[in-house]
Amino acid sequence: MKLAALRPAGDLLLQPAPRAGVLLPLPLSGAYDYKLPKGTNVLRGLLVSAPLGSREQMGVVWGAAEGSVGDNRLKEAVPFEGHPAIPEKLCDFVDWVAQYTLSPPGMILAMVLRSGRAFEPPAMRTAFVRGGETPKRLTSARERVLALADDGLARSVGTLAEEAGVSPAVVRGLIEAGALAATELPEFPPFPVPDPTFATVELNGAQGEAADGLRGEVAAHRFAVSLLDGVTGSGKTEVYFEAVVEALRQDRQVLILLPEIALTVQFLERFAERFGCRPAEWHSDLSSKERTRVYRAVMNGEARVVVGARSSLFLPFKELGLIIVDEEHEQAYKQEDGAIYHARDMAVVRGRLEQCPVVLASATPSLESYVNATSGRYAHRRLGARHGAATMPAVRLIDLRQEKAEAGSWLSLPLREAVAAALAAGEQSMLFLNRRGYAPLTLCSACGHKMTCRDCSSWLVEHRYRKRLACHQCGYEIATPPKCPECGAEGTLIACGPGVERVAEEFAVLFPQARVAIASSDTMHGPRETQAAIRAMAKREIDVLIGTQIVAKGHHFPQLTLVGVIDADLGGSDGDLRARERTFQLLHQVSGRAGRAEKAGTVLIQTRNPKDAVMAALASGDRDAFYEQERLYRERAGAPPFGRLAAIILSGHDGGAVTDAGRALAKAAPAAKGVKVWGPTPAFYHLLRGQTRERLLVQVERNVDVQAYLRTWLAGVKLSNKVRVTVDVDPVSFF
Ligand SMILES: [Zn+2]
Ligand SMILES: [Zn+2]
Repeated sequence: MKLAALRPAGDLLLQPAPRAGVLLPLPLSGAYDYKLPKGTNVLRGLLVSAPLGSREQMGVVWGAAEGSVGDNRLKEAVPFEGHPAIPEKLCDFVDWVAQYTLSPPGMILAMVLRSGRAFEPPAMRTAFVRGGETPKRLTSARERVLALADDGLARSVGTLAEEAGVSPAVVRGLIEAGALAATELPEFPPFPVPDPTFATVELNGAQGEAADGLRGEVAAHRFAVSLLDGVTGSGKTEVYFEAVVEALRQDRQVLILLPEIALTVQFLERFAERFGCRPAEWHSDLSSKERTRVYRAVMNGEARVVVGARSSLFLPFKELGLIIVDEEHEQAYKQEDGAIYHARDMAVVRGRLEQCPVVLASATPSLESYVNATSGRYAHRRLGARHGAATMPAVRLIDLRQEKAEAGSWLSLPLREAVAAALAAGEQSMLFLNRRGYAPLTLCSACGHKMTCRDCSSWLVEHRYRKRLACHQCGYEIATPPKCPECGAEGTLIACGPGVERVAEEFAVLFPQARVAIASSDTMHGPRETQAAIRAMAKREIDVLIGTQIVAKGHHFPQLTLVGVIDADLGGSDGDLRARERTFQLLHQVSGRAGRAEKAGTVLIQTRNPKDAVMAALASGDRDAFYEQERLYRERAGAPPFGRLAAIILSGHDGGAVTDAGRALAKAAPAAKGVKVWGPTPAFYHLLRGQTRERLLVQVERNVDVQAYLRTWLAGVKLSNKVRVTVDVDPVSFF
């Protein structure tokens, strides 16, 4: 990293050097003391280059020095040229997240300093305008370039060539002849400004009411949380776009969080239709150059609206006026490695620190948000009916115990008939199965051996197109063996259960004429192929889309009238607190894909438990009945949001050390009122990437400070350094 130092003027040399606590983006316990050059205006958030060992490290002035180290032994940190600083509210946010998640603050700061280059002085690039000379030889190609340059705008060689429809050599010839002259432009073109008046929108009654409420909150510049709660297709996006309009009018910035990058493409287009340009994007797929551009534009206020994944929560907004968390119930908002945090919950915290409204949008809210909204802590803004002519789909359960299909068949007769009818009517269908690959389990029919991962306690999933068995936990893969590795028998390995590939195989036999595509987050069906399949579906180039949960969310397929759920019971019985809620949300979202335009939709759900509360709520369409039942269940169990949970995960390559550590930790748990500790128990994947994993679960009553409890507990035990301890406050996954 190139750092330019700012040296103080000579007359300041007599004053004592200021000192400060500097936080480094590393997993250290806290800030370190440094001297700063004399005359430095010591501000919280000031970016400095600080020596650490033999290298220079970017750091941030965090507060007063702790003061135990003498001046002569203190190293000097030097501010960056131009003194860029991290906004103070963002520093406060870092402290808050660190405190809440029990993470070292430097680890949270590292998420803020994601683009080191953004703090360097902006580079320039060369562009060309009309020069003083007129070339002697004027071809029609040259004339086109000069005519273009006559508008006075500076363009790069590439842009001139492209816009004039000539080769770059023509442009270079004109530069040599002096007909084009070089000029310097900032490295990045400015971000376009979204135009609130670009498109007119008509809102229905409920939408208008919700939009008015949100606009008022944005205009008031104060913290408030709303749950924007409406069935899929009820027009939530149009409503929160009105809040975006108000924020733009107030000259403030907007952050829109989406759970997955896969959803952004359609979203960006939708935004452009409303505001005339795309918003800035922030996610892990950006190149380092794009990252620099966006980061700077967010910091100086040029980027007015940012759409991003959870990490965009840590961007240095200059004047944040609104945060929207779309699909707020999504598990993808939980960051599960490194610093473990929930982006939805932290978005609410950031909104409070920034004093701006936060909008949580969902058709199937998390139970937490539902309870907050119905108890009045959040404003509950409900959108009832579907927008325009669309009506809710009819949901029917298919009892697989009665509709017993022959072995190796996954589509029951009623589902087949419905697909055939949709095909005959020229309408589209979607088959949903939340399982990638061909078959989840391969076993030997001679000896019963199950093919499992070398490094994890999980089955290997067959991917038949690629002729491989793969671990979906760690990525370990082998070629499908010709004989059983255990007993050596040949031709005895059999595939058990279906994945999407297997459903597609059966489908192709049943409906050889249908145009079909698979969408699955997979190496075979990677993001690009998935996007292509989704686009083909939207354009009606295929009749049937077979997919995993990637097809469940956000997509709008106007001609889709039939959704078939192959196995609704998947993931319903793993003893995890949120399994029922998740199953309901996912199936409800999938169902919502059907009949989003003028044509009515039908949803057929194959299940072995038609009496189950989740299935009953889906069939009756009574969503809130499910939520109320789930609320009661959680309340009785003291489970979130009525109590709080934290998980402690112990992991390491030395299985014995992990087991010992688990026991030692459980023994050392301080007794406290309103606190229960369970475990240690082997984690769901007891072996993951070669590491043994044990879990302890802490459940506390709502009024207990769980962070303080955990700190006291963990500080009181000395564990083997072969064991890694991870704390997950408010866990959402129980693996
Ligand atoms: Zn065998
Ligand atoms: Zn594995």
